[in-house]
Amino acid sequence: MIRISREHYTYYYDRNNEPVATVSVGDQVIFETLDCWGDQLKTDKDRVDSINMSYMNPNTGPVFVEGAEPGDILVVKILDIKCEDHGVLALIPNEGVLQQYVKAPITKIVEIKDGKTIFSDELVIENKPMVGTIGTTPVGRIPTGLIGDHGGNMDCPAVRIGSTLYLPVFVHGALLQMGDVHANMGDGEICIGVECGAEVIVEIADIIKDRCIPSPMIETDENWYTTANAPVLEEAIRIATKRMADFLSEKLGISLEDATFLISIVGNVRISQAAQAGYDVAVHVEFPKYVDQRGRLSSF
Ligand code: CA
Ligand code: CA
Repeated sequence: MIRISREHYTYYYDRNNEPVATVSVGDQVIFETLDCWGDQLKTDKDRVDSINMSYMNPNTGPVFVEGAEPGDILVVKILDIKCEDHGVLALIPNEGVLQQYVKAPITKIVEIKDGKTIFSDELVIENKPMVGTIGTTPVGRIPTGLIGDHGGNMDCPAVRIGSTLYLPVFVHGALLQMGDVHANMGDGEICIGVECGAEVIVEIADIIKDRCIPSPMIETDENWYTTANAPVLEEAIRIATKRMADFLSEKLGISLEDATFLISIVGNVRISQAAQAGYDVAVHVEFPKYVDQRGRLSSF
């Protein structure tokens, strides 16, 4: 197993970043990730307005994937996500859906123990860890805090243990990186997830040469997901839904109209990220595999 230590972090998806390791299809890789605050908030007394915001959202990597070329799809399976023993929550004035009610910054450190987030003695949450920021490197330089067709700060709860990601490749070697793990995060992330350092264990599962996708897709045992981002919610919904309609239409050999019916009947349009933190809204469209009696949705 290849381990990428947390000292190897970056704040950009940048094709000029020096790869920290070279990996091949079949390799398992452990990415040690810092929390989204760059581990700057250690106690409840550390104020979020006193930290250096340019050290936000570090990603571990990038790793160079042997054989991955522009136009390919890199397939990455999330085998495990091991969260550290605490999560860091913070409310920031002028950020988040309820920002007008946030009078002052608040930091709240919560214990993570036995697969649970201990919000208080009485309020305990079963963890569903997910990777907030993951992607291949685009042609242009993009900060790790932003979202795009390369992935990045997607904050999609479907990126969890057992999920398989299909990531478009834009540059030689793909240059995969990730960070911003959440022990828990609800759809929409209305202000923050349970931000934590972690070890993300992935398998470089495949490189697909003869297909292309416009932005990351995610597969779980039960569902397929398409993703999209845009400055306004309606536009992000339209793009992600069209991407699912195109996928279904191709996989099932049906018209765009029939795909539209199916998504409307049994698909779910979900908001990934609407934290109003100065970047795009991200959405994902979920479609269940069981619908196709011929099992055509059981593989990519
Ligand atoms: Ca995030
Ligand atoms: Ca986060």
